[in-house]
Amino acid sequence: MKKPVNVAITGAAGQIGYALAFRVASGAMLGPDQPINLHLLEITPALNALQGVVMELNDCAFPTLNKIVATDDAKVAFKDCDVALLVGARPRGPGMERKDLLLANAQIFSAQGKALDAVANRNVRVLVVGNPANTNALIAQRNAPGLNPRNFTAMVRLDHNRALSQLAEKTGSHSTQIKKAIIWGNHSATQYPDLHHTLVDGKQALSLVDQKWYAETFIPVVQQRGAAIIKARGQSSAASAASAAIDHIRDWVLGTPEGDWVSMAVPSDGSYGIPEGVIYGYPVTCKDGDYQIVQGLQINDFSRQRMDATHKELLEEKDGVKELI
Ligand code: NDP
Repeated sequence: MKKPVNVAITGAAGQIGYALAFRVASGAMLGPDQPINLHLLEITPALNALQGVVMELNDCAFPTLNKIVATDDAKVAFKDCDVALLVGARPRGPGMERKDLLLANAQIFSAQGKALDAVANRNVRVLVVGNPANTNALIAQRNAPGLNPRNFTAMVRLDHNRALSQLAEKTGSHSTQIKKAIIWGNHSATQYPDLHHTLVDGKQALSLVDQKWYAETFIPVVQQRGAAIIKARGQSSAASAASAAIDHIRDWVLGTPEGDWVSMAVPSDGSYGIPEGVIYGYPVTCKDGDYQIVQGLQINDFSRQRMDATHKELLEEKDGVKELI
């Protein structure tokens, strides 16, 4: 029997948390032979709702679920955690400016970075889902000097999966036939979904679709997919966000398939002209529990412009929270 892995989920009684906890507990993230200790964090007013989630988790009788800790204390939730899924974040309230939202979340993520620093496993892998995810991940990282800075990542995998699904529909293929899509930059409307290196059944994606569809339909549809789901469902996407979080951690820990890559927002290191100092969506391959940014891709002017625009937005977000990093 393998040693249990401690997985912390913040905002565990929220929409995404509710969809995520059950799949993590069932083995969908780390495999059917990996016991999981779930550490669920919520704010105090949501503890009752969290108890309901715990009851349901117990009622599933998952063979892989070893133990549940439910708490409103970050230092309890993050104690010895190996994976931290930071989902809980402050939603935009009525009349709230973008800057207020940034600051409210910056406070949450600086406190969580400090708590991770104090008690988490020194090699904890952190995935930030709560928005603004890239900047929240940067804040948590900067507040956790004792942890591996490479291990602070943010989620662009939902955008990546959305790109696969749009392209599959357009080309009459299945998402499994599509390789090497990329989401560059910020998990926001400035993200750049890049198909220049993408293959559909081994053929160049951009030879199968016209440039007008790519520039004027595909890119905005992927960028605005979250808003389209809110319009249709009356609520933001939750199950697909949870599923992408599972994909992100599974591939990071267990590896990406040969001949493909995935998109992860990771600390920039100068690759592709993005200087150190932001958490930026890149194509990565994963092996032995680590990730590497894919190197050597040709970047044309169309891509360069969009990659720089999303970087500029990240710098602006960073400037808005400079007191906390
Ligand atoms: P959701 O579970 O729907 O969303 C949680 C966060 O994920 C939001 O910041 C949301 O951003 C973000 N997100 C990222 N990508 C996506 C995506 N593709 N689709 C939708 N959301 C995305 O929010 P709820 O309000 O249902 O739940 C949040 C929970 O977090 C609450 O239970 C609250 O009590 C808790 N919370 C916990 C904290 C803690 O543990 N310390 C701190 C603050 C809150 P966006 O807002 O832009 O949709």
